[in-house]
Amino acid sequence: MLGEAAVTDDDASRYYKQYEEAIIACGNSANASEKSISVKLSSLHPRYERNKLEVLQKELFPKTLELVKLARDNKVDICFDAEESDRLNLSSLIFKNIIDSNVVDSNYQGFGFALQAYQKRAIFILEWLNKYLPQKNKKIKIRLVKGAYWDTEIKIAQENGYLDYPVFTKKFLTDISYLACAHKLLDSQFIYPQFATHNAHSIAYINILFQNKKFEYQKLHGMGDEIYSYFENKDNFLCRVYAPVGNYNDLLPYLVRRLLENGANSSFIYQLNSKKVQLENIVQSPLKKLDKINEVKILLPKNIFSDRINSSGLDLSEEKTIEYLKLDKEEENFYAYSIVNGEDIENDESLDIISPYNQAILGKKYYTNESTIEKALLSLKNYSHVWKNYPLEDRCIILEKFAEELETNFKKIIKVCVKETGKTIKNSIAEIREAIDFCRYYSMKAREIFKETLLEGPTGEKNIYKLKGKGLTFAISPWNFPVAIFIGQIVAALVAGNVVIAKPAEQSSYVSNLIIKLLLKAGLPKKAISLILGHGEFVGNKVLEDEMLKNILFTGSIETAKNIQKKIQDKSSIPTFIAETGGLNCMIADSSSLPEHVIKDILRSSFDSAGQRCSSCRILCVDENIYEKIKITLIGAMKTLTVGSPEFLSTDIGPVIDKEAYDKIKKHISNFKKVFNIELKDRVGNFISPTLIEIDKLSDLKNETFGPVLHLIKYKTNKLEELCLNINKLGFGLTLGIHSRIDKTIKKIISIVEVGNIYINRDMVGAVVGVQPFGGNGKSGTGPKAGGPEYLKRLCYEQSISDNIAATGGDIYLLSQTDD
Ligand code: FAD
Ligand code: NAD
Repeated sequence: MLGEAAVTDDDASRYYKQYEEAIIACGNSANASEKSISVKLSSLHPRYERNKLEVLQKELFPKTLELVKLARDNKVDICFDAEESDRLNLSSLIFKNIIDSNVVDSNYQGFGFALQAYQKRAIFILEWLNKYLPQKNKKIKIRLVKGAYWDTEIKIAQENGYLDYPVFTKKFLTDISYLACAHKLLDSQFIYPQFATHNAHSIAYINILFQNKKFEYQKLHGMGDEIYSYFENKDNFLCRVYAPVGNYNDLLPYLVRRLLENGANSSFIYQLNSKKVQLENIVQSPLKKLDKINEVKILLPKNIFSDRINSSGLDLSEEKTIEYLKLDKEEENFYAYSIVNGEDIENDESLDIISPYNQAILGKKYYTNESTIEKALLSLKNYSHVWKNYPLEDRCIILEKFAEELETNFKKIIKVCVKETGKTIKNSIAEIREAIDFCRYYSMKAREIFKETLLEGPTGEKNIYKLKGKGLTFAISPWNFPVAIFIGQIVAALVAGNVVIAKPAEQSSYVSNLIIKLLLKAGLPKKAISLILGHGEFVGNKVLEDEMLKNILFTGSIETAKNIQKKIQDKSSIPTFIAETGGLNCMIADSSSLPEHVIKDILRSSFDSAGQRCSSCRILCVDENIYEKIKITLIGAMKTLTVGSPEFLSTDIGPVIDKEAYDKIKKHISNFKKVFNIELKDRVGNFISPTLIEIDKLSDLKNETFGPVLHLIKYKTNKLEELCLNINKLGFGLTLGIHSRIDKTIKKIISIVEVGNIYINRDMVGAVVGVQPFGGNGKSGTGPKAGGPEYLKRLCYEQSISDNIAATGGDIYLLSQTDD
């Protein structure tokens, strides 16, 4: 049955009904027992993900049992398709549940599922089945395929920084795995094997291996006809045809996928039709290529960058990772102090640290007084010249060691992020990875740009150009990326030779104390940095007064940026001011876009991190032709999001940071009439359910609302240009999403909208250091981009040294020239 994955509960019910009807129709047709229905699990539930196991056990598991039972009652076979790798553990649990149930018994052996041989785990699943099925005395069918999502698997593993790929990275290894799995199937008395392949070698091998055994081939409708026609008149030959059934809209994406699959150079069908490839090579045994096993074709995820190591991530579909991430229950008090000269400073003013989600008192934070700030400033200024001249390589090594410390303390930092700032575990992982990337990227860039350059010029002179740290740097960061942005600013300043006074947001005091301790542990001289906890304005005013202040690195709201700008305008010196502020970010979806993809991407773009990202999408602009469909589907999809405690992996949306933020967002929502959201009842904590607000015109919005609130606006197809110009009129310029399958439209939008980061046919959050340098213009910031090639340069001054070497007795090089 054709169709994309379900996005809403309604989709899932519709697909389920279609499967029911199809099973009954097959059951009523002639030769029912020769028919089989293939079921895609992702179409039966909108959240078919490992992290939703508990919900799925209640909602999806019973549905699968009912479908198998219906198939059994109608005497037709049922086979569950295999999907992406991160669903393998989950689907295995579902299949085990079916095997264990009484719908599969000696009277019904029509239940089966597809197994992908490109999975490194495939053979182990068969080994397990070969042990388990005899114990249970149950018979099933296995459709052995190679796997249809190979390129996606490689992409996901690289993006998430996995240790290794879940699938083989060489085609011949997948082919060998296919044959090895066939041998395991040969061993089994309890599995009826179904070989779904169009590859002549795989087909021939199976033909010989299974000479006296019962099995079947499977092929896709319209493919492999020539190969299979060879067998047509042979005895006991069985080939099942997998035929797509559905409407035109759903058929197109299916056909495109098949075209891509068969158009790939490595594909058997492609090679067969290619004049360049010799027949002998195509039908060669994959075992002949074993000598190529150590050739590296696809680099491991950690090695995808040529000049630095990619940060490692965690695979949240893995049982071991899930176990590892269970936050220990034992409570630990958070005491957050400023740090000056490596020492915690306990000041008079102490405030409770309150959890954003259960309002528990987690500990205390101690805010700085004036004398501590003065002490910190003095010490930093005295040390500035030492740090400026510290060997570059040593500065870089400290950053790299710090990255290692962050990796070592991954779990501890996750815990603190979750508890103090209410970030979900998944968001906390991404955040720590980003921080690690900052360390490695900036140290790599520093090695590149701090090299002295010898300039060309007249003889008798040596002219050098170089960059040097400016000196005292004030790093002011927000709470929404308490690790990544906090660290990004600090390490950039430090590696460029600046001493740093770091002022984190009040809401993330403890996490910043923890991080500075790790930085000192990594070897940073304690006089190179001070951490100052306190009220923004109080600390800001005091530090900004200092006439030796050279750089201000600010990330936060436009209002605070303007306050800082006013404060520094009367200074006698002119410090560098880098401000990265918020955005009124839009996503444009034209009528060619695929609604399911738009919805998936908008959910993440607007509601992930409870919408508390500067890059979050605030306005979805939809072409009039698909507006209603998008609106209805979006409202349905929003209902599938779980709002709750960030301690659980199943939570999609945690709390907003504090009561003040909560009230502000609620007040904004109350200004509108067309509001769609679900009321959250009896919740302790600052929870806001994902909210959609229909607006008539962009100018209804003036400011960023920093929470899970998305505005929806309809545009007329012939008014796209006007829409783009109106986006510019908002005055912000941070991120933009475009969903369209028409190149011309994409180019047009890009040519008009003035934003710093554009994302095409994907979500628009989660910029990766060095890959998508991040930052905007207009009311969204000054640039240069964080994690981009220009950032470090802005923190330095340029020095040109001209040395008259003739003055010391002449130019030796010139004088040593000979006529030869
Ligand atoms: P070949 O050309 O021999 O193999 C191509 C395959 O090799 C690729 O698809 C990929 O899996 C693998 N490959 C390519 N390059 C590399 C590389 N560099 N490293 C490692 N491996 C590589 N697929 C599913 O995922 N789930 C299903 O439920 C499913 N059901 C199917 C049902 C039927 C009846 C059929 C015929 C196919 C089904 N498929 C399914 C699709 C199937 O996975 C592909 O058709 C199959 O991979 C193509 O294999 P082949 O032996 O025909 O071709
Ligand atoms: P905020 O402006 O309230 O505070 C940011 C920091 O400034 C905090 O450390 C605060 O203590 C400090 N501060 C406040 N007043 C100050 C003053 N007078 N002088 C010096 N420092 C002062 O912002 P927030 O609520 O912490 O963060 C959310 C905002 O940050 C949103 O607007 C978001 O869009 C923006 N942001 C932007 C980016 C980006 O890269 N463009 C990234 C993250 C967050």
